[in-house]
Amino acid sequence: MNYLKKRENPFQYCLRLNTGDNMQRRDAIEKIMNSIDDELVICNIGFPSRELYDIEDRKENFYMIGSMGLASSIGLGLALSQPEKDVVVIDGDGALLMNMGSLVTVKACNPRNLTWIVINNGAYGSTGNQETYAKNLDLKEIADSVGIKSHNFTTISLKRLIEDDECHFIEFNCEPGNSEAPIIDLTPEFIKERFMNRIHE
Ligand SMILES: [Mg+2]
Repeated sequence: MNYLKKRENPFQYCLRLNTGDNMQRRDAIEKIMNSIDDELVICNIGFPSRELYDIEDRKENFYMIGSMGLASSIGLGLALSQPEKDVVVIDGDGALLMNMGSLVTVKACNPRNLTWIVINNGAYGSTGNQETYAKNLDLKEIADSVGIKSHNFTTISLKRLIEDDECHFIEFNCEPGNSEAPIIDLTPEFIKERFMNRIHE
């Protein structure tokens, strides 16, 4: 037991302090959606999108069906092309690791209407909860280091940051685990067209 304690990474301990009540991704998405009204939401592929669909399907949701890692890139393009709308990206730690260059691109473009939330459960949830290397990383600090205003979800008012006239990165630490959310029974074409129609209403 002592041996295990010695091996425990201090960052891992910090993560546990942040999670507090064994919250999983679905709970995190529910908390996020409590602050969403008419914002455009781009959601990471796999279980995150399934859980968002199950919690609250809306015309303003864009569910990723492919292209893991590119939710932030889609959100960035959308924020730049729709400056009058607020864009919220619900991303994952594994997806961020797959496209870390997006941090630099987002900082360089500095979209004032983009809020980028990364749910860090330290796992590739949709493929069976294998550990990611983000398990012991402070993603907030990494985003902060490239110059994006960064926060931990536990310390902020999400609505205030969305309404703020700056780009924000938010790390939402939670535990691994998938809910029983069903597969999304919408076609990719329908998801895209419904979303685009909503933008142009
Ligand atoms: Mg994850």
